[in-house]
Amino acid sequence: MGQVALVTGGNRGIGLATAQRLRDGGYTVVVGSRSGEAPDGLDAVRLDVSDPASIEAGFAEIEERFGPVLVLVANAGITRDGLLMRMSDEDIDDVLATNLAGSIRLARRALKGMIRARSGRIVFVSSVVGMLGSGGQVNYAASKAGLIGAARSLAREVGSRGITVNVLAPGFVETDMTAVLDDAQRSAILGQIPLARYAQSAEIADSVAFLVGAGYVTGAVLPIDGGLGMGH
Ligand code: NDP
Repeated sequence: MGQVALVTGGNRGIGLATAQRLRDGGYTVVVGSRSGEAPDGLDAVRLDVSDPASIEAGFAEIEERFGPVLVLVANAGITRDGLLMRMSDEDIDDVLATNLAGSIRLARRALKGMIRARSGRIVFVSSVVGMLGSGGQVNYAASKAGLIGAARSLAREVGSRGITVNVLAPGFVETDMTAVLDDAQRSAILGQIPLARYAQSAEIADSVAFLVGAGYVTGAVLPIDGGLGMGH
């Protein structure tokens, strides 16, 4: 069995493509999501990243069934878009709890096994909007920008233990998350992307696989955005 890789939100979208890519690369991949459902050919655990007790239970189950998690892809994320003037406390709290605090707690839990093994790979899935900003996404952009500070701080804490911590910053990707955009929003977005198309999830997965395989890259923010965030 290869090293154990946990991909949160790995039951669809970017997470599923990443889980399949890592499995094809020889890792023992476990997918974590709120439903706990296992996509074809992958193992899964129920793990709600916004709930510390659920993170602990999910890791305990993975460790018992497969061994320590040496690759963590913190991919699970949500949006609750709206103008800040009208954004509810719940929309602010839920997005930060899932996207930012959830990723930090996952990393903290994963470190136990990684430090023991003196080896580990942590990839936070951020977004181009964390750097560019995005009207209607104050909560989401803040959560994604926060991941950069978290990754760079943690990279400094654990680099000497052979653990790398990096951030992937996708642009717009064809998934359920972007399927809610209407035609006008889509064409406005496409007009700003030099490559003039959305990414496929598999293209994001390839970049996660690169970061997982890269022994001398840490604290990096890798943009996979068709040029949308150029210079950021
Ligand atoms: P989807 O909406 O297609 O999938 C989201 C995934 O996250 C699902 O698997 C969902 O599983 C899981 N998830 C949500 N909340 C939780 C939770 N509390 N605990 C565990 N799992 C959870 O998203 P994408 O594939 O589009 O996005 C994946 C990541 O990439 C996100 O972090 C997103 O912010 C980021 N991203 C996406 C972009 C895009 O254009 N699509 C662009 C830039 C970044 P379930 O509902 O079953 O729990």
